[in-house]
Amino acid sequence: MHRFPGLCAAFLMLCAAPLVQAEEQPKLAVALDVRHVAPGLWRVDYRFAQPVTALKLHSIGEFRKQEWKVLTPGMGMKSGPDFDVIASKGKPFKSASVQIKTFDGWSPKEYVSFNRFGDGGTTVYLGHLQGDVEQGRKTLSMHTDIKLFGLAQENVIAPPDNRMEPGAERGYAYFGPAQAIPAGAATVLIDPRTPQWLRETILDVGAKTSAYYEKAYQRQLKDELLIMVSVANFESPGFSMKGGAVMGQGQVSYRLEGQQLNTDHPKLRDYAALNVAHEMAHIWQMAVSRGGIGGQDPWIHEGGAEAMSLDALLQTGVYSEDSVKTYRAKQAAACEKLNNTVDTYDGIYACGLVRFDKLGVGIVPLWRSMMQAAEAKGDAYSQQMIDAIVSAK
Ligand SMILES: [Zn+2]
Repeated sequence: MHRFPGLCAAFLMLCAAPLVQAEEQPKLAVALDVRHVAPGLWRVDYRFAQPVTALKLHSIGEFRKQEWKVLTPGMGMKSGPDFDVIASKGKPFKSASVQIKTFDGWSPKEYVSFNRFGDGGTTVYLGHLQGDVEQGRKTLSMHTDIKLFGLAQENVIAPPDNRMEPGAERGYAYFGPAQAIPAGAATVLIDPRTPQWLRETILDVGAKTSAYYEKAYQRQLKDELLIMVSVANFESPGFSMKGGAVMGQGQVSYRLEGQQLNTDHPKLRDYAALNVAHEMAHIWQMAVSRGGIGGQDPWIHEGGAEAMSLDALLQTGVYSEDSVKTYRAKQAAACEKLNNTVDTYDGIYACGLVRFDKLGVGIVPLWRSMMQAAEAKGDAYSQQMIDAIVSAK
């Protein structure tokens, strides 16, 4: 059991797989109703604009195999290594209904499907209900219109719209008794079990780094920002904070776990602060009207977020020069152990940071130029883009 898992595990997977593909594929309009029907039980109804022969969803560990039940008569689900496929023995269909139980497992590199809050509320990752459809041999992306229905008396909070790609993957929806609270430029929804020191750290570092990024990178957020914090359990050893910025929309979700949640230690504060600054950096990397984070070379946005956060933490006084130095040295050593490559999960972060540090260009002017370059032509952040900026300075 590692005490400090990699930052923002979920983010990577999403950027790596379906995004680029989705842009090239034709789309089919799908109405998707998500209903909370009883505690821990959900009903999802798909209605397709045209008949389809299969509903094809990217696998999320054991989630669908364990918790999904197809309700539509004559239809069934088959789970392969990469996809869960719902079909009606090859016959075309225009609607499908499934019953889903709240799933407590999760895969390290995926978003968590459900988070339970201490007040009885639940967040649901809507992206795990979305994917592709097939019409015979043709594959189309779902262009989804999602409607959410809570239990009686339940407050439902929808995630911000996907501005980068309307109709594509959406983030977390909340069903429960809580209301989101305005906090500066963001609204926040915090599990009441969240220890005070973590609540403080998340809000304080969130506010400081977002104000800093706004000024340094000379751009305001394009999206409303919704921050969700949930506590998974206090029993597992150590301390873990899993954060995920959701692609194309202003949402960051944190999941906190472990016995040390109640330990207010400077080292844990530093770890949490870095996690917050890192996710906020992604939010700014996405604050462009087009282009930006692409499906290739995740070390660019992950290593970039690491370098941007160290700068922000130092400039806002959250980190001392010593803390920054110590973290850089730790990551440089980790990168060397990984043979200085970015082809492993840890290498993306550690060696990604090292690569940015070695460029000899300030991280703020570099990323400011990268955001401008992405926006100018709608390009993804790339090695080529970095090279062009570095050689022009
Ligand atoms: Zn990240």
